[in-house]
Amino acid sequence: MFYKLILCALDGGRGTAEILLTADRTLMSDYHHNEFLGFGTCAPPNVIPDWLYSFLFFPPIKTRNGVPIAAPYGLRKIEAQLLSEGFDVLTVDPIHVEKYVDEAKVLGIHVMDPFGLGPASSTFAAILKKEPFLAQHFRNLLEKPAIRKAKKRGLKIIVGGPGVWQFRYRQKFVEEYGIDCIIEGEAEKIIGKIMRTALNGEKLPQYYEVSVEETPSLDDIPNIVNPSINGLVEIGRGCCRGCKFCSVTLRPLRWYPLEKILHEINVNFRGGYANGTCLHAEDVMLYGSKNTIPDDEKLIKLHETVLEKCEGIEWSHCSLAAVASKPRLFSKIAEIILQKQSRWGAEVGIETGSPELTKKIMPAKAHPFKPEEWPDVVRTGMGLMHDNKLIPACTLIVGVPGETEDDIIKTIELVDDLKGIRSLIVPLFFVPMGRLKGDNWFEETEANKLHQELLIRCLKHDFYWIDNLIHLSFGEKWYGTLMRPLYRLFAEVIKYKARKAGIK
Ligand code: SF4
Repeated sequence: MFYKLILCALDGGRGTAEILLTADRTLMSDYHHNEFLGFGTCAPPNVIPDWLYSFLFFPPIKTRNGVPIAAPYGLRKIEAQLLSEGFDVLTVDPIHVEKYVDEAKVLGIHVMDPFGLGPASSTFAAILKKEPFLAQHFRNLLEKPAIRKAKKRGLKIIVGGPGVWQFRYRQKFVEEYGIDCIIEGEAEKIIGKIMRTALNGEKLPQYYEVSVEETPSLDDIPNIVNPSINGLVEIGRGCCRGCKFCSVTLRPLRWYPLEKILHEINVNFRGGYANGTCLHAEDVMLYGSKNTIPDDEKLIKLHETVLEKCEGIEWSHCSLAAVASKPRLFSKIAEIILQKQSRWGAEVGIETGSPELTKKIMPAKAHPFKPEEWPDVVRTGMGLMHDNKLIPACTLIVGVPGETEDDIIKTIELVDDLKGIRSLIVPLFFVPMGRLKGDNWFEETEANKLHQELLIRCLKHDFYWIDNLIHLSFGEKWYGTLMRPLYRLFAEVIKYKARKAGIK
């Protein structure tokens, strides 16, 4: 039955299943095979028509009979776990959910930022004063008449994924849309129990927080059985840096063995969907390491082995400290990657330019360097990335509790120093998470003149680089010639709006 399910799911030949899995429209997209365009889902409706915006930033994924050819990695993990326990499960595209939901008993929804409360979307929403696309599309999914109808006859709705913390701030929504269970944490070891409870019609816990004992070990984490979006493959979970504002840090650090990573890459290739791989971890540079010092041998082996199979490699995240601590290793990795491509990308956290604030909220972020050396670590790491053609999408945190005017001035100075580094720098308003969960949100009304100045400097930096980044993003793809002018037009419109608002 297990193999039949896999084959049926891939060719879209299934009628329906007891358990359906899905995600909203903004997550069920491959963003033109460019993960960074996915940032666009955080923005609210703006100067260009919604249909054009969604085409540019989150076009629908291809489907076969309503079954997506690839799906978010987290959803694929849950799908794999349920299949391994013998459940009748099918992942469907949200646009086609009507076709399948009538006979389903449970609908599992994967969420990243369901209400737009995440740092990027809440910052955009505060500035543009509208609901971000990703929040709109999550609501639209639950408002589908077919789901409403199925709910009335007893469909159970269960949500999980990195964005579930937001439901704690939206209890009314949970009741209004009849969400039966919200699972917080890595669910591999408990999802079977929850699904059995739902299928038996027994009472589900409204919130289920996965305890430390229930967090899966490496052996408990199944391999995906169907392709993930953009060939994303996890290489490890957890992070050892312990930044106070981050929830990832509360989980143990685990690195996948090479065989497991290769197995999942094969799954993506077998589906015929991706020929490149996005390596996913909180810090790809630390693959296989138990501390903050990169392990040369393991990192090189990982890249050589993966590149033998793939046509390209992207990274999800990496740290500036790990890059700055081993410049030669980083250049070696770049040399391997650049054999088959002209650049690669990663998300990178700068967060602040202030050594004092670094000490307070992220003392290990600079490790093996001292927290007071953080601005130098950033300058060195960013310089190495520029020289080795890694394009970082960087984040800054604005309004973190305890931030002083001097901290903001130091961050502004650091952004100025990074002018010549090919990158995007995105300032994000502080959202209480991790060990700062109990603190207050930062509202845009609290933004003082210095905060505004920081936002303007980041905007100027991004405007300076945007043409170059658009060119590099599509340079090697056949449809680049068609797409580049559209993104350039969008960038020009935003620049025009900024000029009208007095930002020169
Ligand atoms: S380095 Fe990144 S993932 Fe690790 S704790 Fe800090 S913010 Fe979280």
